[in-house]
Amino acid sequence: MRELVDLIKKSGKVLPGNVLKVDSFLNHQVNPVLMQHCGEELARRFKDSGVTRVWTVESSGIAPALMTALALGVPMIFARKHKSLTLTDDLYTADVYSYTKRVTNHISIAKRFVQSDDKILLVDDFLANGQAVSGMMEIAKQAGVQVVGAGIVIEKSFQPGGHNLRKAGVRVESLAKVKSLADGKVSFEEEKA
Ligand code: 5GP
Repeated sequence: MRELVDLIKKSGKVLPGNVLKVDSFLNHQVNPVLMQHCGEELARRFKDSGVTRVWTVESSGIAPALMTALALGVPMIFARKHKSLTLTDDLYTADVYSYTKRVTNHISIAKRFVQSDDKILLVDDFLANGQAVSGMMEIAKQAGVQVVGAGIVIEKSFQPGGHNLRKAGVRVESLAKVKSLADGKVSFEEEKA
């Protein structure tokens, strides 16, 4: 998505550890118009998949997930993060290792917001090692609901998440694909028209 790539070029900062900081429009301050366009584009790509709910993980996934859900006309659920989980009877839960924060979070979705015939689109701000998407897929498996794919704002294609998910048969659609952050420079995969 040209608009997104241009903004990453203009305001993205490369941090140590292959982290791309985009907190001026995605991860802290949020650009609503850009999020709307990201949501509309992800919705367009998955419009024939019969999506009934969009899932994400709090907090950075919420903005693009909400806009995607709005464009598809379905509810959005964000999995909550917990340090520890004790009472889990009413929850589906999974563990997610955070690449940027270097901690394991337990994520959960309340059983009452899941229906057996759900078709879930997973949305997240970044795809790196695939932990967040895999955690949500684990929850979908526990709940016995179908995942139609993953819609990602920025995929770091030099990290293995996207490759592993596609190899496992998951449809992954990314709006910007970063192929390298080497030497503090952001370079992108060629964009499809
Ligand atoms: P994964 O679970 O695929 O390993 O990593 C994705 C999650 O880690 C995203 O939800 C995102 O919040 C965070 N993340 C991974 N890489 C980056 C990055 O380069 N920049 C930022 N801002 N967040 C990242």
